[in-house]
Amino acid sequence: MAEIVIRNLRKEFGDFTAVQSSSFKIEDGEFFMLLGPSGCGKTTTLRMIAGLELPTSGEIYIDGEEVGQRPARKRDIAFVFQMFALYPHMNVRRNISYPLVSQGMPKQQVAEKVDEVSRILGIGDILDRPVSGLSGGDRQRVALGRAIVRDPKAFMMDEPLGALDAEFREHMAEELRALHDRMNATTVYVTHDQLEAMQMGDKIVVMNHGVIEQFGTPRDIYDKPATMFVADFIGSPSMNFLRFHGQVHAGSNTVVVHHEELEVPRLQEPFEGDLVYGIRPEHISLSDGGTYRGEVIASEYLGTTQIVTLNTGNGELKARIPSDQPVRAGENVGLEFHGAAVTLFDNQTGRALR
Ligand code: ATP
Repeated sequence: MAEIVIRNLRKEFGDFTAVQSSSFKIEDGEFFMLLGPSGCGKTTTLRMIAGLELPTSGEIYIDGEEVGQRPARKRDIAFVFQMFALYPHMNVRRNISYPLVSQGMPKQQVAEKVDEVSRILGIGDILDRPVSGLSGGDRQRVALGRAIVRDPKAFMMDEPLGALDAEFREHMAEELRALHDRMNATTVYVTHDQLEAMQMGDKIVVMNHGVIEQFGTPRDIYDKPATMFVADFIGSPSMNFLRFHGQVHAGSNTVVVHHEELEVPRLQEPFEGDLVYGIRPEHISLSDGGTYRGEVIASEYLGTTQIVTLNTGNGELKARIPSDQPVRAGENVGLEFHGAAVTLFDNQTGRALR
């Protein structure tokens, strides 16, 4: 298996820079997500790791060896493009054994490998069936079988579940993650779906316009977003942003706004200027009192919680509150912010203040 280190990796297409100088490390056995909106450079990054695209500059190390300019077939990496890319006229066994047969592996050994893989994937009973008649889920398993049978050092997956409907997608996501946990193979997975990245990933790189905005565990990224872009992209509904002019003293856990103090996490550096007070919907509660007030516009019922949209003097806010707490449209309510969970941003740079 493999540890993958990316150092100052950059890709230009003509005078367009698809990936700015990027650095991160993928630990051996990690399920690693490249996440970002369409066009942010995640596929290009994945293709460079796999060797399907050569970097303009920078290095890629697989298990300590620099492979950046090496062709794909010399990197021992399996690329799972689209799980449905199978040979329809062949049966399951031949589809899975194909990569081994074309390498010239002896028959007996091929049969053993196919048996092993079909046990891992739970598809032993369909080995002799033609793939054309299989269900979507079984086709996905066969495609995965063809990727894992070679025992590659790592797997690259580009939106493998993209074509599936929501319910089945969730099921396959769980299955893929469980398969990874059984095999512990280093996996790099591209998605634009923040929920998928949060649910499946050990680590996430969030990209935007070819730049890495943040790199960390799902929890780090959710609780301590490094930039307003990340705070907005991760979480649904996304973080609320309140803009004001304020002042924070170094080591203090309050921000002073119009002579009033609001609680925030303790900051190391002093700051005075245009701030963005970032608070997630679940960190706002409604109360009878409270100096900060808002008018209820709407409420969306979600089972145990509801999302309440409020109009405040400082723009619109969304709060996630228990669904048994009654709210009426038009009602004026007090708002309580859980200051310890707030992220303050410098409005000019969009970066979190720490
Ligand atoms: P998507 O999810 O839409 O594929 P992505 O984040 O994976 O988005 P990339 O496919 O990496 O984005 O593309 C990043 C940018 O580089 C895009 O603007 C794309 O148009 C451009 N790009 C990608 N490949 C090429 C190429 N071969 N020639 C020119 N431009 C390219």
